[in-house]
Amino acid sequence: ALKYIDEFRDGELARAILQRLKARCRDLGPLRFMEICGTHTVSIFRSGLRELLPSNVELISGPGCPVCVTANEDIDRAIWFASQPEVIVTTFGDLLRVPGSRSSLLQKRGNGADVRMVYATFDAVQIAKENPDKHVVFIGIGFETTAPTVAAAVQMAAREGLDNFSVFSAHKVMPPVMAALLESENLHLDGFLCPGHVTTVIGAKAYQDVVDNYGLSCVVTGFEALDILQGLTLLVEQRARGKALVEIQYRRGVTWEGNPAAQKLMNEIFEPADAVWRGLGKISGSGLAVRPQWARFDAAARFDVPSMDAKEDPACRCGDVLRGALRPPQCPLFRKICTPQNPKGPCMVSSEGTCGAYYRYHRDE
Ligand code: SF4
Repeated sequence: ALKYIDEFRDGELARAILQRLKARCRDLGPLRFMEICGTHTVSIFRSGLRELLPSNVELISGPGCPVCVTANEDIDRAIWFASQPEVIVTTFGDLLRVPGSRSSLLQKRGNGADVRMVYATFDAVQIAKENPDKHVVFIGIGFETTAPTVAAAVQMAAREGLDNFSVFSAHKVMPPVMAALLESENLHLDGFLCPGHVTTVIGAKAYQDVVDNYGLSCVVTGFEALDILQGLTLLVEQRARGKALVEIQYRRGVTWEGNPAAQKLMNEIFEPADAVWRGLGKISGSGLAVRPQWARFDAAARFDVPSMDAKEDPACRCGDVLRGALRPPQCPLFRKICTPQNPKGPCMVSSEGTCGAYYRYHRDE
């Protein structure tokens, strides 16, 4: 087993694992795996792994970039909050540059709105403490890795007796979108590389339904190139044996049950809710809403948020990219009009976005 971080960049070991992977693939037909998580996508590109893989293995990127899957209507709501008098909007960096239907948080800030980037959720609580005359709305974007930290910030605000802090929860959870993808798309997948960080919280057991209901292999994988090679090898071996399982490659971070303390924290503040995903629409139970007993920290309950007439730029194909239905170079705007300096969609803005990863690391298209 790979135990020490140094080993994960070991060229010899990589070659040995790659040889094993190639040997396992030799007698199999075309194999298609989806890496769900944006961090995997970036790691795969940065390490040049795609070019090294056996020719019958195809990797497609999935919907695991939190900024990218945030629907335009939620971006528009974040911008609406920024337009309210006496409101300070706080959020993580990438979201600022994502174009909504008509504007972005960054443009709003340029026009005088108080929009602040924070590195940690507790910073948003601190801003609320320092600005008692203002109301601080934290725009909560992210998966099960982020939601517990936002829940902890709500608890902290409660402990501090703050009445001027709330969360606009656009959080998403991972397992329902995997099922939704398999229901709605003809992806011909042979398995999922499941995200290491999210699974640290929810536990590998969260993917058992995907295996049971769709017969698809799920291997929870770490983020170094060797982790990914090992994860792919496990997926291919399952395919060769004709048996789909949940397996954990990322044993140094993930258990079957996950992190009960983080789950408890998340479940105390949030409850499952339907959520709208860019490119996938509304998916039942795939979001997190602030529980009614915490409504005073729920921006959606504290403010009379109007329904949004959200529009997406029809030329941006992010929705298709997130469903694994289109590779970024197939988007007519890619590289020509849409670049990290002048992004037309979130998949180019985000540091975990597939378009951005292709732009930065993919050289032969
Ligand atoms: Fe959207 Fe740009 Fe990606 Fe095209 S290249 S799908 S315009 S983000």
